[in-house]
Amino acid sequence: MTAPVNKIIPFSAVDGFGNRTAIFLQGCNQDCLYCHNPETIHLCGGCGACVAACPVGALSQERPGGPVSYDFEKCVNCDTCIRTCRQFSSPKIRNLEPQELFEQVRPFFPFTDGITTSGGECGLYLDFLTEFYRLVKAAGKTTYMDTNGQVPLAGREEFLAVTDKAMIDLKAGTEEDHIALTGRGLSAAVENIRLTARLGKLYEIRTVVVPELVDNRETVRLGASLIAPYPEVRYKLIRFRRYGVRESFSSTKEPSGELMEELKALALAGGVKEVLVT
Ligand code: SF4
Ligand code: SF4
Repeated sequence: MTAPVNKIIPFSAVDGFGNRTAIFLQGCNQDCLYCHNPETIHLCGGCGACVAACPVGALSQERPGGPVSYDFEKCVNCDTCIRTCRQFSSPKIRNLEPQELFEQVRPFFPFTDGITTSGGECGLYLDFLTEFYRLVKAAGKTTYMDTNGQVPLAGREEFLAVTDKAMIDLKAGTEEDHIALTGRGLSAAVENIRLTARLGKLYEIRTVVVPELVDNRETVRLGASLIAPYPEVRYKLIRFRRYGVRESFSSTKEPSGELMEELKALALAGGVKEVLVT
């Protein structure tokens, strides 16, 4: 069993409690308009266009349509491959077994509190994560999942047993807004927030604030109502930034400081104990 690993950031202070190693898996089941990692959404289709475009020969393909191999050592991270790809997919993937991924992150353990898996959507690989988290926990480190909430966690007891905390996106407050923004409905994320909060496994919910795209006040009202009964759960309000988004979204307005403060006040008034604005 393998999962496509896009990137490993050895030390991160923004992916859960303390100092954590963040692991990004390739592939997502949503396509949010403002995605900040659009190169992680699609899995490579094997067309081969990027292989010829790579300036240092870090990509290869044994047969047309077959898998693209990536030489991590040769790559100079110019991202020509991603820009060449018609679906803006990254071929810079290593398909790793849980044990192989564990060996990659273990050297950082003396300096970290644990690992956080992200994406793309790491929830697409729950069986893989169950094995990987098991190894991490056996080594005495904590396991956090950063997720869009679109993969139901109900009934996944084995996975939940080895998951310390989840950080779940709440992207919109109404079904209509959620579909317009992400292409998918709201209910799976809401159910996952309810479930993990009830189990004491919800670290935070996260909303990216983009003015005029969705009804941000409605989103925050819903988020506050979901986590207010759980004072240990924080609400992170993330200011939309243009950096890293698709060209088509790069001139979108960023939210004002006043709007962020208004939304923070709304969450606090809704009973949330801790609201972070970033
Ligand atoms: S990012 Fe790496 S794999 Fe992609 S084109 Fe540049 S050198 Fe080649
Ligand atoms: S990453 Fe894109 S361009 Fe490269 S082989 Fe896969 S589908 Fe083709």
